[in-house]
Amino acid sequence: MSAGVRSRELHRRALGVSPGGVNSPVRAFGAVGGDPFFTASGSGSRLKDVDGQEYIDYVLSWGPLILGHAHPHVTAAVEKALRKGTHFGTSTPEEVTLAERIVELVPSVEMLRFVNSGTEATMSAIRLARAATGRDLILKFEGCYHGHGDSFLAKAGSGLATLGLPSSPGVPEDVTRLTLTVPFNDVDALAAAMDRHGEKLAAAIVEPVVGNAGLIPPRPGFLESLREQTRRAGALLIFDEVMTGFRVALGGAQQRYGIAPDLTTLGKVIGAGFPVGAYGGSRELMSQVAPAGSVYQAGTLSGNPVAMAAGLAQLEVLEREDPYLHLERRAGRLVEGIVAAARRCGVTATGTAVGSMWGVYFREGPVENFQDALQVDRDLFSRYYKGCLEGGVFFAPSPFEAGFISTAHSDADIEETLRVTEKSLAAATAGG
Ligand code: PMP
Repeated sequence: MSAGVRSRELHRRALGVSPGGVNSPVRAFGAVGGDPFFTASGSGSRLKDVDGQEYIDYVLSWGPLILGHAHPHVTAAVEKALRKGTHFGTSTPEEVTLAERIVELVPSVEMLRFVNSGTEATMSAIRLARAATGRDLILKFEGCYHGHGDSFLAKAGSGLATLGLPSSPGVPEDVTRLTLTVPFNDVDALAAAMDRHGEKLAAAIVEPVVGNAGLIPPRPGFLESLREQTRRAGALLIFDEVMTGFRVALGGAQQRYGIAPDLTTLGKVIGAGFPVGAYGGSRELMSQVAPAGSVYQAGTLSGNPVAMAAGLAQLEVLEREDPYLHLERRAGRLVEGIVAAARRCGVTATGTAVGSMWGVYFREGPVENFQDALQVDRDLFSRYYKGCLEGGVFFAPSPFEAGFISTAHSDADIEETLRVTEKSLAAATAGG
């Protein structure tokens, strides 16, 4: 794969001024090799790069753009908001309206606070959980990503829960010592960790559908058990719905699976491509956040009116159209098509779709946790990936990321994607 001339030149300049030439590591295409392309514009299901090459986009800004690029209703709302000014440092009507919409739609959220990213949301949620419980330990699941806060950059130990080791230099061991890590979907490992550490646990945080290790749905009963075990231990349950919120259902994974967490973190879709996050929960818990309570958390640009207008406009369309069943069917067709194409090329694959999130692994199924996900054929994925990109299909440049689709993706887009996919797989296996 070679990016076009303009992309390569921009990449060269970027390498001189930004670490790895990017402002977020995954954009460097490190897992698949080759130079990243630079985007000029997006429209509907498609991106156009600075060299004029078009791609059917299944990354969608890593989740936010559930209506596709430059949706007219969102764009009009943004233009209108922008003309009134970019930010005021006071409260505005838009943040109240968006908060009210979210409270109405997300079952367990009675109050919420807007922040500027998913990372801020999860960091703030665990601060609140620690304050509310008077405990320090946090439990997370292997392969779940909750942003780059120190507490979340903890590696799993092997076997049962172990106290975490930092997975990035610069993260003090004293911080990650407070983070337990347990395999996703493993009720017994969870029970063992809770037996040992439950009474010191402030909160368990989970991606209810894991989207940062490919796509791993919860096994029936897993989230129920997690809810029950945290409640018994007097610990809070945090659903990190930064990715699943308004993606797997209008009320998020908590609506889909009928589980009420104590705290919920949101991001991505609620900002429609602007930097927005939020954390929320019961009135009682959220009333502990400053200035109503003493748990400090603040943000100069939080609740930015242009971002709020964008999020609100996107939610309006989602409520009006309720596209989730349709999106899941379309994503399901894509997954089945890729798995079938793989089979025809002699490659074993498995995959699934949950709402508008989907994932395919080049290995035998089922994939139920991070260790399973790690056993994919990465070399094959890289070769396949390059073929797809050359054929005009932009998937996440890593085998460990969920794919997305939007309401702008048509049947014709899916058919074209499947044609490109099969061709790429055939070439990837022939070359292997
Ligand atoms: N939580 C989850 C589940 C995420 O997927 C992400 C980002 N991919 C984050 C938190 C962090 O969000 P942000 O990148 O906006 O900080």
